[in-house]
Amino acid sequence: MSQIQSIKEATDIVAVIGSRITLQGAGAQFKGLCPFHAERSPSFFISPELQRYKCFGCGESGDVFNFLQKYDGLSFQETLEELAEAAGIELEKYQVNSADQLRSDILATLASAQQYYHYLLTEHKVGKPVQEYLHKRGIAKDTIRQFSLGASTPAWDGLIAYLHEKKKIDLTLLEQAGLVITNRGRTYDRFRNRVIFPLTTHRGQVVGFSGRSLPGEDDRGAKYINSPETLVYHKSELLFGFSQLHSEIRKANSIVIVEGEFDVLASVQAHQSNVSAIKGSALTKEHVRLLRRSVKQVVLALDTDAAGREATKKAIAVIKQGQDEGEAPLELRVATLSLGKDPADLVAQDPGLWRTAIKQSATAYDFLITTALSQHDAASPTGKREIMDDLIPVLRSVSHAVEREHYVQRLSKALGVSQASILSDLDKQGPRKQVVVDKKKQNVEPERNPQELRILSVFIHSPQELLAERAEQLSHFSWQTAGAPEILEIIKKHPNTSVAAIDRLLASDLQAVLTQWYLSDAVNKNSELEVSQRDWSQLVARLKKQQAERELAELSVQLQAFDNKDILTPEDEATQRDLLERVVLLQRLT
Ligand code: ATP
Ligand code: MN
Repeated sequence: MSQIQSIKEATDIVAVIGSRITLQGAGAQFKGLCPFHAERSPSFFISPELQRYKCFGCGESGDVFNFLQKYDGLSFQETLEELAEAAGIELEKYQVNSADQLRSDILATLASAQQYYHYLLTEHKVGKPVQEYLHKRGIAKDTIRQFSLGASTPAWDGLIAYLHEKKKIDLTLLEQAGLVITNRGRTYDRFRNRVIFPLTTHRGQVVGFSGRSLPGEDDRGAKYINSPETLVYHKSELLFGFSQLHSEIRKANSIVIVEGEFDVLASVQAHQSNVSAIKGSALTKEHVRLLRRSVKQVVLALDTDAAGREATKKAIAVIKQGQDEGEAPLELRVATLSLGKDPADLVAQDPGLWRTAIKQSATAYDFLITTALSQHDAASPTGKREIMDDLIPVLRSVSHAVEREHYVQRLSKALGVSQASILSDLDKQGPRKQVVVDKKKQNVEPERNPQELRILSVFIHSPQELLAERAEQLSHFSWQTAGAPEILEIIKKHPNTSVAAIDRLLASDLQAVLTQWYLSDAVNKNSELEVSQRDWSQLVARLKKQQAERELAELSVQLQAFDNKDILTPEDEATQRDLLERVVLLQRLT
């Protein structure tokens, strides 16, 4: 048996997942709230027998390895190591793939760098200027510890002297970790004389740093510099503060998005701890995906200047787009800060001001209406048209009629026009709601045909000795359920084999289909699964009838086409005759 197989056998997926999310029994299965998308009633199911999970809400499915890689953000190698250790199995000759190895070397290097920077700030005299700067900005010792802040020396080679010369880490590795820069044959530290902010993944692994310059010193170089994109640092996924504040964020079921690192620190010190920063860049799809798993509300608190307003509009669009593609809705609000002030400034002035700004945040719709009204002249006819042009797509995306009316009323007052004319503009230009279908999702999701799913689900719970025989019966039907013919074929070829053993014979896409059949009873609580032979025959008969009816409907469309023709060629007549024969045959069945 392979090592992977023996680790899998020694592991119970229910225990592994159960130690991370709350599960409850559901017949022979377990269920809980899906950790991969936001939901209120559980659609995440685990089958102890198959040792697989499946979410009927978002479609995620897999085995214990898939779960840990996704939930803990681990590589396959790391997952293997963790499960082997838990099972008391010693990993012997596992071939580390070189990308995994490099990744884990880079992570280890970054972790050492973080300790080094933190040590300089908290213990070494070279960190004094940074310490004083942080003190001046009101950052407490606890905050420094919570976010493992650090300091870098003014020297060109502070980090190199420690990690390379003393700790013997290769310069190439330091470069691959984004810590040093090589230019014209000379290698030097990337971060010099700066406040160091470790940047972590949502699971808390350090993947890079940002560094803020100290004021006054030689003012060359940007105020902030960041790690470059590396094997482990991906700017578009990074939210500063998210891992350290995750439990507060989850508990609040709401997150405040700010621009900068200092805004996060200040907010936490003002007792508003459900906060993270996009670090002066745009809110991305990747960010939103991360947020959806933890909260149902997002409060944007970006700069109030023109650039900040545009950034807010874009962020709203990114979140909306996800929803149009079928992701769970997020309640979206916008906080307004006084012009020219960021959250850190507000907190420095009065922490209460910051908390109030969040409490008084407006809905995204109100924000967009206010913005449109401020950007055009609501008194002139041209201005009114421009405002309507900006807001028609916005109003159209409000899906609740009552809610939409609320905004239409507000706009009608502001523009001094009747609600009826606004409504007629809304109706004129295209459909109310545009639904974009996510092509990728469509491909991986098996087609859903409830009648088929029902019989396939009953089928897969058949007594082991009947499986192959029933598969033979079912293999004669034409299935709309993707993967059904392939799976039935394999079951036919393996009489008296358990479902779990069949599962191991399948490719992963077919495994996902099988899991869906297997678990679908759990969502369909009222249906009986272990049916008598007579009930089984009835189910088969009913399916036969349904398929015949479906085919009849298709045939009648085809026959209709001949009726509409004035002249029939001899080929036409032959086809028509064949179709009619088939109809007679089918009518006997229904
Ligand atoms: P501070 O509060 O540190 O004085 P700030 O409030 O002036 O900074 P902004 O200039 O508004 O900060 O930038 C907001 C955020 O954008 C910063 O916290 C940082 O994360 C990011 N940022 C700013 N300048 C740069 C840059 N040159 N390169 C990369 N990121 C930057
Ligand atoms: Mn600031």
